[in-house]
Amino acid sequence: MPEKQIVHTTITVKCPKCERTNVYTISEEDIKEITELGVARIGFLHGDHALIINFDSTGFIRGAYIVASDNIPSDIRVFYDTYRVLLSPRFLIKDFEVALIDLENKIIDLRASKLSGKDVSLIMEYVNTYRNLIKDSIKRVGVSGRNYFAVEHSNVVILYNNIPSSIIKVCLPLIMVEKHDLSSIYLALKYAVSSSIDKDTPTFKERLNMVMNAHRIRIKAKKGINAIRFARASILALWPQLTNVFDMIMSDPNIKGPEGTTLLNLIMKDPSICFDDLYEMLKELSKRDLIEFLG
Ligand SMILES: [Zn+2]
Repeated sequence: MPEKQIVHTTITVKCPKCERTNVYTISEEDIKEITELGVARIGFLHGDHALIINFDSTGFIRGAYIVASDNIPSDIRVFYDTYRVLLSPRFLIKDFEVALIDLENKIIDLRASKLSGKDVSLIMEYVNTYRNLIKDSIKRVGVSGRNYFAVEHSNVVILYNNIPSSIIKVCLPLIMVEKHDLSSIYLALKYAVSSSIDKDTPTFKERLNMVMNAHRIRIKAKKGINAIRFARASILALWPQLTNVFDMIMSDPNIKGPEGTTLLNLIMKDPSICFDDLYEMLKELSKRDLIEFLG
């Protein structure tokens, strides 16, 4: 099959607008897209504009065009130099922004920020110039007329705003672990900002870890839903603010099954929920032997 032969071969393309040359290595992901849609569509960021190309199963470029960097269609896989740039789907961000630049795995993830493709060159110039300065040390940086802070830890640069530096300092070693999953990091920081627990205590660290791993932790009804329903009044007497969440937990179809439901799923039922309250309530249900935490 011709599709198999073009993997790892390179495409060289010159921008008609700024004459920059991009050399791109065809990936398995491209082949998958070509198999499904006939062509692969990728874009290269060049400051204020991006060069978009479509290529087919022989590596032939079927079309090339220029768009504004802050207006790239969401189905285009975007690159800056050798970095993959994640711009969509955007997170529903409210209180603060977070952007990650994974220098080792070459990923720029802007989905939890208001930054767009046009900001990438500037951000990367800053990171390349000041990398030594921001190593485990927080520095202020202006991007697109807005204030951000930058710090590098374990080969990942985090750009953020509206989070106290004291919280970032405590959280950084805990959130920059093995796989840098932006949604877990965003959720963990959201928890850290909202929690009133002393950030230097083991309790805080344990809960932050739990939020970070919420997609892996599962919760299962141990004696069936009716047993939990029976405890409703006594539980809600302790946490009346969690009435909606409690009822949503009860109606989760997965909690009854052998696999249970993820902790993340429960947190996301009400994104404004106070995790400390949810945690205490789940602990109480567990103490009463009504639910079980899995893995
Ligand atoms: Zn260009």
